[in-house]
Amino acid sequence: MRRQLERTLWATAFLAVLLAPVLLAPVLHGPGTGDASSLLSQLSVGMGLLATSLLVCAVVLPSRVRSLTRTLGIDGVLGIHRFVGLAVTLLVGLHVVLVLAAKPANVALFDVLHAPNRARAAVGATVALGALVALTLLRRRLQQRYEVWRWVHLALAGSVLVLSALHIWWLNHLVRDTAMRALFIVLAVAALGVLGYRWLWLPVFGPRREYVVRELRPETSTVSTLVLEPRRDRRQRGYRTLAFAPGQFAWIRLNPSIGAQEHPFTIASSAHVGLWTEFTIRHTGDFTNELRQLRPGSPVWVDGPHGAFTLDLRRCTGLVMIAGGVGITPMMSMLRTLAHRRDRRPHRLVVVARTLDDLLFRAELSELQQRLDLTVIELLRAPPPSWTGASGAVDEELLTALLPGAFRRNQLDYYLCGPPAMVTDVLTVLDGLDVPPPRIHTEQFDLV
Ligand SMILES: Cc1cc2nc3c(=O)[nH]c(=O)nc-3n(C[C@H](O)[C@H](O)[C@H](O)COP(=O)(O)OP(=O)(O)OC[C@H]3O[C@@H](n4cnc5c(N)ncnc54)[C@H](O)[C@@H]3O)c2cc1C
Repeated sequence: MRRQLERTLWATAFLAVLLAPVLLAPVLHGPGTGDASSLLSQLSVGMGLLATSLLVCAVVLPSRVRSLTRTLGIDGVLGIHRFVGLAVTLLVGLHVVLVLAAKPANVALFDVLHAPNRARAAVGATVALGALVALTLLRRRLQQRYEVWRWVHLALAGSVLVLSALHIWWLNHLVRDTAMRALFIVLAVAALGVLGYRWLWLPVFGPRREYVVRELRPETSTVSTLVLEPRRDRRQRGYRTLAFAPGQFAWIRLNPSIGAQEHPFTIASSAHVGLWTEFTIRHTGDFTNELRQLRPGSPVWVDGPHGAFTLDLRRCTGLVMIAGGVGITPMMSMLRTLAHRRDRRPHRLVVVARTLDDLLFRAELSELQQRLDLTVIELLRAPPPSWTGASGAVDEELLTALLPGAFRRNQLDYYLCGPPAMVTDVLTVLDGLDVPPPRIHTEQFDLV
C-alpha cells in the first residue's frame, strides 16, 4: 500500500516536472505570426522545454533517493534513467533541426567563435550530451574501466545540466515571464537539492554506517563471503544493526572520504540474524580483489539497504528463483529468511553455473531443503562428462517440468538475478509460458 502510494507520488511529481514548462510557456500559447516559420519556432521551443524537464528527471533518478530505489528497484530506476537519457537526446536533436528549419540562417549559431553566448552554451550542451550517450553505448566495446567511465559520465552530465541552464538564462525570453522564471527556479532548486543530497549529504552525514570485518570466508576459488558486524555506537552504548528486507543490496566502501570507490553488493544473510551482515562476493576486478585483502577488524562503510528486489513487498503462493552465478546472493537471503520464518509455501530454485566448481552453497541448500518446501535444480553450462543433472540453458522444457499448471503458475512470484544475457533469455521463456509480467522481478548485477 505504502509502495503503491510512493509510486503514485513519484509518477505525479515526474509528470508535473515534465509538463509544467510546456503548459506555462507563454511563447507556446500566444498566437505567433501564424506562418510556418513561427510554428516551427514554437515547436522547437516546446521540444527544448520537454528536453529540459526530462534532463531534471534523468538527474534525480540515479541519485540514490531511497524511496525511489525502494519503489522502482535499481533495475527499474536505471532502465528509466537510460530511457529518459535517450529521450532527451532525441528531443534535443529535434530542437536543433526545428531551429534550423524555422530559419536556415540560424546555421550561423554553430560558429561558436562568433555566435552569441546562448548559442555557445547550446552547442556545448549538445556536444556533451552526444559524447555522454556515445560513451555509454560504446563502453563495453571501448573496454573502458567502469570507474573512469563513471567519472566521465558524471562530468559530462554536469556540463549538460549547467550549459542547458545557461542557454535558457541567456535566451532571456523564457525567463522574462514571471511564472516561467518561478518554475525554472523551482526546477533548479529541486535538481540542486537532489544533487546536494547525493554528493554532499550522503557521503558526509548520510546513514552510512561503519562496520568491522568479522570474517572473510572463502566459498570457491573466486568467491568469498564477507561477514561484517557494526562498530559499537559509543553515544548509544550499543550496536546499530542493518535492518533490511531479504534481497536488498547496499553500497560498500573501504574509505569514508567523498571520492572513494563505492560498489553495490546484495546482502546474502537472513534478515533475522541480528548482528552480522553477510555479503557473498565474486572477486572480478580491482575493488572486489581489494575486498579479498580485508582482515578481521578492518573497517568498512555500508550505505543501505536499497532496492525493491525482495519478497517482503508482495504476496504470493510461492517463489520461483532463477539465479546465475553469484546472482544467487539475493536468493540465499530470501531462503535463509524464509527458513527463519518457518515458511510453509512451496518454493523452487534454479541455480545456473558454468562448471561444477562454480556452484555455490550446495551443502547449505540441501540443508534448507530439509527445513523448507524447496525444490532445487542445478544447471551447468559446461558440465563434466559425469554430470547427470540439467545442462545448457534455462528453457521452456525445464521450466514446464518445474512449474505447476497455468493457473497455479500465475499465483507464484518469479525472481531472476544474474548476468544480463541470462535474465533476458529467461524473461523470453517466461513470456512464452504466459507468466504475468507483474509477477516477474529482475535484478542484474550490472549498472551500465
Ligand atoms: C544491485 C547490485 C547487486 C550486486 N550484488 C552483488 C553480489 O551480491 N555479489 C557480487 O559478487 N557482485 C554483486 N554485484 C556486482 C558488483 O557490484 C560488481 O561485480 C563490482 O562492483 C565489480 O567491481 P570491481 O572493481 O571489482 O570489478 P570491475 O572489473 O571494475 O567491474 C566489473 C563490472 O562491474 C560493474 N561495476 C564496477 N564498479 C561498479 C560500481 N561502483 N557500481 C556498479 N557497478 C560496478 C561494471 O559493470 C563493471 O564492468 C552487484 C551489482 C549490483 C548492481
